[in-house]
Amino acid sequence: MKKIILGPPGSGKGTAASRIAPKRNIVHISTGDLLRENIRKQTPIGIKTKEFLENGDFVPDNLIINLIENRLKERDTEKGFILDGFPRTINQAKKLLEITDIDLLINMDVTEDVIIKRILTRLSCSHCNKIYNTRTIIPRQEGICDDCKNPLIKRSDDEIETIRQRLVIYKEMTKPIINFYKDKLVIKDVICNDLNQTPEETFQEVLDIIEGFEKENSQLEKDI
Ligand code: AMP
Repeated sequence: MKKIILGPPGSGKGTAASRIAPKRNIVHISTGDLLRENIRKQTPIGIKTKEFLENGDFVPDNLIINLIENRLKERDTEKGFILDGFPRTINQAKKLLEITDIDLLINMDVTEDVIIKRILTRLSCSHCNKIYNTRTIIPRQEGICDDCKNPLIKRSDDEIETIRQRLVIYKEMTKPIINFYKDKLVIKDVICNDLNQTPEETFQEVLDIIEGFEKENSQLEKDI
């Protein structure tokens, strides 16, 4: 099970991926989380990339490809993984297929209007990165993570101007990946424009797609 979940910032891909991973016994690899962890620990890559994240800009391809290549060498990825936030450029998409094979791309399809409303109400845990919001994922105690009890923060790249810039970049740099992969991978779309759809419902939709895809695949293998 080697999968990519692709979608604009705020499409719910991170939340869906973090729930899919334990359910399918695969690892969730979020390049955004990996970078934030490096920044927090002030590692050499964290120091080099801090400013890009703060400005909502992409980290240069060579740094991010190196980061993901090393992560995919770790043993826990042998059982499968779901990539969240990578690839984000055609160059990264090409490189990924040189590093590993991918069996499914899940494309989270959502309008800009919905995204802006979602991101402006988003909070995340300063320690474990778990995501909350003021509508559908409300923490039990205000401002505190349910799981690790650390404070919730607004990510510095979740301000309106930064969001708009990230959406422009997504349209120009990341969306063309769908076309690039069209004849290389199986692509399944998930439409997520309902603001009141809970993360649980989105997760269930993605899970159904994955399970349907796996059923089709195992039937194909039996038929061969
Ligand atoms: P995310 O948590 O996926 O929204 O990522 C947060 C930020 O990390 C992005 O706005 C970029 O600055 C950086 N980042 C994460 N993944 C990548 C990637 N594949 N390529 C370039 N920059 C990335």
